[in-house]
Amino acid sequence: MTNQGLNLIPILLTFVGLLMLMYSLRPTAAICKKSQQKGWCLLYYLILFFVLGYLISLIRFVSAPVFTVEYLVHSLILVSGGLFVLMVTQLSHRSILQVEESTSREEYNALHDSLTSLGNRHYLHRAATSLIRERTSFTLLVIDLNNFRQINNAIGHYLGDELIRALSIKLRQHLPEQCSIYRMSGDEFTLLWEKTTDIELELLANQIHELLSSPLDIHGYSLHISASIGVSCYPRHSGNIEKLLQQAELAMYACKRRGSEYLVFSEELNQGAKEKLAIAARLKEALKSKEFQLYYQPVIESADSSVHGAEILIRWPQEDGSFIPPNLFIPIAEQSSMINEITCWVIQQCLLELPALKKAGFKGNLHINLSAKDMHNPSLVTQLKGAVSKGEIQPQQLIFEITESTMMTDINQARKMMTLLARTGFSFSIDDFGTGFSSLSLLKVLPLSQIKIDQSFVTDMEASSSNTSIVNSVIYLAKSLEYSVVAEGIEDRQTADRLCSMGCHYLQGYYFSKPLPLDSFTQYLQNQKTLVH
Ligand code: C2E
Ligand code: MG
Ligand code: MG
Repeated sequence: MTNQGLNLIPILLTFVGLLMLMYSLRPTAAICKKSQQKGWCLLYYLILFFVLGYLISLIRFVSAPVFTVEYLVHSLILVSGGLFVLMVTQLSHRSILQVEESTSREEYNALHDSLTSLGNRHYLHRAATSLIRERTSFTLLVIDLNNFRQINNAIGHYLGDELIRALSIKLRQHLPEQCSIYRMSGDEFTLLWEKTTDIELELLANQIHELLSSPLDIHGYSLHISASIGVSCYPRHSGNIEKLLQQAELAMYACKRRGSEYLVFSEELNQGAKEKLAIAARLKEALKSKEFQLYYQPVIESADSSVHGAEILIRWPQEDGSFIPPNLFIPIAEQSSMINEITCWVIQQCLLELPALKKAGFKGNLHINLSAKDMHNPSLVTQLKGAVSKGEIQPQQLIFEITESTMMTDINQARKMMTLLARTGFSFSIDDFGTGFSSLSLLKVLPLSQIKIDQSFVTDMEASSSNTSIVNSVIYLAKSLEYSVVAEGIEDRQTADRLCSMGCHYLQGYYFSKPLPLDSFTQYLQNQKTLVH
């Protein structure tokens, strides 16, 4: 290498060092912006100071271009220093970006639902709280799918998830922009809408129902869904987001029960919810202190008007002589495991009262109502098998009544439990037939032996030709499946006669007798005996 070439080496090395130093100013400035630590700003000014030093050295090397070992070492130190500063600042910047990225990913996950990518409950909280802070009015709509559990059981959880995903896309695509959608859990969505007038609300609710009315195509299945909508408004109903959500949910459950399009929260609903809470609190105590009572309603053989059996109906007498109706407290007990304890008590009490019934000449079947949660209670099987093995009851004597919706809640579990009990000799009747959504093919796979036609078709059968046709068809269906058939809710003679002529096997209703407590029922049995003799 020529002398001139050698002279350039310190200049080049110092220049490269200077470039690296200058390049490291960029990541350092970026870190200064992000980091709260003052040290990074100090480093930034230090680098600027070094840049100045490097420039002076460079000018010195350029103005006296000679090659000495001292110059070489000097320039090597300068280039290494530049490289060091560049590496430290670049790597630090990159690590800070990575930390930032994973923090924002975590934050996103904490605020979004993983299945649909919609905002979740926390996100809704955050958005609503900021609107409340700004005193901006808004409406909350809680949308819950009807019978999603049944659909999920029928098509499987994977397709159930696909259905939820497809629905979330549909809602996002078609609902107005001012409407943000959140997925709260399972099949429950919430809309946060910055509008509050009744007309706008009605239009939106109609739009939602219209969207749901066209079926969703999920892997070749055309699925029809419907939903119940509960509404609450800020500031009309509350200034607290948790409370607003509770109110909208309360309205949604009431909407589901009433089968209406949508329901806006009202104080009346709140009162009902408080009453339910009070009943739920009292149920445990009532069970412990044996406040419940069994009533018996006769089931009549249509062929000869004899007493074929009786349905056991629970009663909860109050101190003032009134009764809390089972239609009120059973659904509350069904929301907890309390219903299992109630069912076990009913069976136990029935076994205790059986000797008195036998003494009065009763040889018929006893019908006991079961709830969906009873299908998951193994101690029910233990209790019943125990009673059979101790000879307290003959299994042929008990018929369990299960509604269609109970069976459809978890069809596999219902089948398991029913098969287990049917093997021991107990039999099953479908209660309130015609009011649920069971599929006839599913009914065939269950160990059933009886259908009870719901009283809503029977009571005013004479006045309604469509009800007469329904009852006729159910009797025909039961017979072709080789089931027996009971009509309940018979309140007059004409209906009873008509049902006899239609070939209905058994009859039940106020026309024959209201549900009676044990002593009145045994008296009723005695009277029947004397009538027959
Ligand atoms: P369900 O099993 O369908 O019982 C028939 C209901 O219809 C009874 O009401 C009965 O008193 C009433 N009923 C009978 N004949 C007539 C009639 O001619 N006209 C009218 N209007 N009503 C009639 P209840 O005793 O109030 O029971 C209501 C529901 O509560 C029952 O409906 C059943 O689902 C539930 N339930 C009652 N006892 C129990 C129980 O021990 N366990 C469970 N899980 N549910 C029960
Ligand atoms: Mg029943
Ligand atoms: Mg019934």
